[in-house]
Amino acid sequence: MSPRQARPRFESWGRYPRLSAEVLPLFWREDFPPANASGTKMLAVGMGRSYGDVCLLQNGTLLRTPNLDRLISFDPETGRLRCEAGVTLAEILDFAVPRGWFLPVSPGTKYVTVGGAIANDIHGKNHHLAGTFGRHTPCFELVRSDGTQLVCSATQNPQWFAATIGGMGLTGLISWAEVQMRPIVSRRIRYRSTRFVGLEEFTALSQASTHVEYSVAWIDCVAQGRNFARGIFMQGEHDSNPGPLAPSPKPMLALPFDLPAFALNRSSVGAFNTLYYNKQLGKQRTGLVDYEPFFYPLDRILQWNRLYGKEGLLQFQCVLPWESDPMGMIQVLKAITASGLASFLAVIKVFGDVASPGMMSFPMPGITLALDFPIRREVSFDLLDRLAGITAEFGGRMYPAKDACMSAAHFQQFYPQWQEFSAYIDPAFSSSFWQRVTGLD
Ligand SMILES: Cc1cc2nc3c(=O)[nH]c(=O)nc-3n(C[C@H](O)[C@H](O)[C@H](O)COP(=O)(O)OP(=O)(O)OC[C@H]3O[C@@H](n4cnc5c(N)ncnc54)[C@H](O)[C@@H]3O)c2cc1C
Repeated sequence: MSPRQARPRFESWGRYPRLSAEVLPLFWREDFPPANASGTKMLAVGMGRSYGDVCLLQNGTLLRTPNLDRLISFDPETGRLRCEAGVTLAEILDFAVPRGWFLPVSPGTKYVTVGGAIANDIHGKNHHLAGTFGRHTPCFELVRSDGTQLVCSATQNPQWFAATIGGMGLTGLISWAEVQMRPIVSRRIRYRSTRFVGLEEFTALSQASTHVEYSVAWIDCVAQGRNFARGIFMQGEHDSNPGPLAPSPKPMLALPFDLPAFALNRSSVGAFNTLYYNKQLGKQRTGLVDYEPFFYPLDRILQWNRLYGKEGLLQFQCVLPWESDPMGMIQVLKAITASGLASFLAVIKVFGDVASPGMMSFPMPGITLALDFPIRREVSFDLLDRLAGITAEFGGRMYPAKDACMSAAHFQQFYPQWQEFSAYIDPAFSSSFWQRVTGLD
């Protein structure tokens, strides 16, 4: 079963909220604008790997793009690829890695489309050096609902370029895009993983590795006392020794059922986190590993979101300025451990100061934390609101791609430029996220 076939109806990765919409697959770029538009608002969507409602539109029409999956051109001298916006990063890797090219920026899953990567201006483990995906997208075509086609780049229609990168799909349909790939000579990543305890040690490791291309850490948000904020710091670089480029396919596992809600509780997740922390016996481990497990450990289990049961999951991701005041992140972590809510997928990373090209892009210099929570009605939403409050108090912001419940007041504080951005929204487009955080249609 391929990840494209795995999901019969459209829902976002968190499976919350569940909203009904008409789903209209696009097969050809000429299918847009739809001839028989029903008059309801529209939104282009990709693989639904956003967690909340940024890719949902209650009672609207979702234009599904993954069938816009054609590679249009590739220059093997420069690594410049032009493709339709529904092409996934997985498909790009299948094409490019055997030819000695790799993605310039990659998120924690390769099952996202190029259109989705631009619309959320995604970031990866190399943000401190490479910035966001939009920086490596020299141009793309934006099609508006009145049929206007705009080729956008830093010099051509630059205001539409800036509004569409990180523009959450609201400016129209991205039909094709160019991606500037980076060269590699091997599939392998030379990595080092280091155990740490506490934010100070994490910070020291991050500061000592700013020259290393990829870095990220896993942090235990259940452990308290002397184990508070323990984790594993991972860094890696493309191996510079020529090595294999051809894939060696590994079997995928798919979770065939929803786990009952009680399966994920503080004890089971705490035990998992302790096992994970201790699986690395020494303080440090180094070696060579294929890029797949380094970048996409979770992709080995298709539909792992079903681990969270039918209720779904909430994700929280914030970025906080930290050099001036590390207290914000300490308060966030303390609020999470004190809540008693189990979370076993907490990722922490230092963002660099490479400017994002998007008007509404999420990353900014600071420290970012991302983690999943099971939905427990009595506590999850209160906790998320508290975390949003701490984020606001310390001058940070939250990531719309990962959000299902931030308040309008918080959103407008995090993104004060939202009204300026509104001028670029296509009048026929909207999303449930946008309606929730602005009160506009
Ligand atoms: C396991 C996992 C790990 C992740 N790790 C990261 C990470 O490390 N960094 C990160 O930044 N994100 C991460 N994400 C989030 C993910 O990268 C983004 O949500 C991404 O935008 C999803 O792309 P998609 O194709 O699934 O788009 P969807 O989720 O379907 O849509 C996302 C947005 O893109 C818009 N859109 C999609 N296609 C088009 C188009 N053709 N034209 C105009 N707008 C369009 C939609 O309207 C929507 O606003 C992760 C998600 C998962 C599930």
